[in-house]
Amino acid sequence: MKKGFITKIISNQYTLIDLETKKSHIAVARGKLRYQVVDEESSFNIKQTKRSKLEQKIMTITPKVGDYVNFDFVEDQVIIFDILPRKNDLVRPDVSNIDQVLLVFSAVDPAFSFHLLDRLLVVINQQEIPALLVVSKIDLIEEEQLKQLKEDLKYYEKIIENIVYVNSKQKIGVDVLFDVFKDKVSVLAGQTGVGKSTLVNALIPGLELKTQAISKALGRGKHTTRHTELYPFRDGYLVDTPGFSKIDFLLFHEDELKQFFPDFAQLSESCRFGYSCLHENEPNCAVKKAVQNKEILPSRYENYIIFLTEIKNQKERY
Ligand code: ZN
Repeated sequence: MKKGFITKIISNQYTLIDLETKKSHIAVARGKLRYQVVDEESSFNIKQTKRSKLEQKIMTITPKVGDYVNFDFVEDQVIIFDILPRKNDLVRPDVSNIDQVLLVFSAVDPAFSFHLLDRLLVVINQQEIPALLVVSKIDLIEEEQLKQLKEDLKYYEKIIENIVYVNSKQKIGVDVLFDVFKDKVSVLAGQTGVGKSTLVNALIPGLELKTQAISKALGRGKHTTRHTELYPFRDGYLVDTPGFSKIDFLLFHEDELKQFFPDFAQLSESCRFGYSCLHENEPNCAVKKAVQNKEILPSRYENYIIFLTEIKNQKERY
């Protein structure tokens, strides 16, 4: 059996790179493949708050871009037999084994959204993927406003690995990003209109045209064809994702949310109810105290409460 890495999927055709020969092959998967995952329905798991020792179950899945697989040549075909364990797994975009996510947010037009940032950080923290923040369009914002934005974002320096401010048009700040991509599988995520295309173009001239041509050929709006692709860049790969519309939390329980706010988690031991504190209505809550003392960004706490309510409502639907 040989080991391969999937770089592209169009419909049911997989492009994989043989890890030994570095040759690329078009492969097929023989139906769905067996894979071990956390059992989200297990009553044991629902009660657990730590994610490390959850019950597993075997399910069948299809391979996705970013997967390491076992494959072999069978007659005139290349067949994928197994998917190796994923270190992380995103649904939108449909990619696994990501080394980092670059969150692209514009300083203005659309205005910087702390709500969306906090929301994405929950998903990214849950998947344990390092995040970088790229703030684009800094040439279009008033100097005073940019100063304020930088001040507010200072808070995130303990949660986000790196914050980079760029003006893609003039390629200012873009050079800093080149080293960031070296040897890594990176996902570029951002809303429509944040200037992601301009950034990608500044990084890899011509790539944007290529992705547009592909989506045109496949037909926009048709959901029958699956297409995801990793583009080689700086000895790693880049995934450019179309703007996301809605991000759902895949949490079992409202208890879980707080552990994906690492800045809150540190304070939990000082809450009267310790690690079981939801930082909501409990007395003597260290997190609420920190919000009052401006040690926690007020908008971050407000977003936490919004998400908490969302998860509670989600549960009530069942
Ligand atoms: Zn608390």
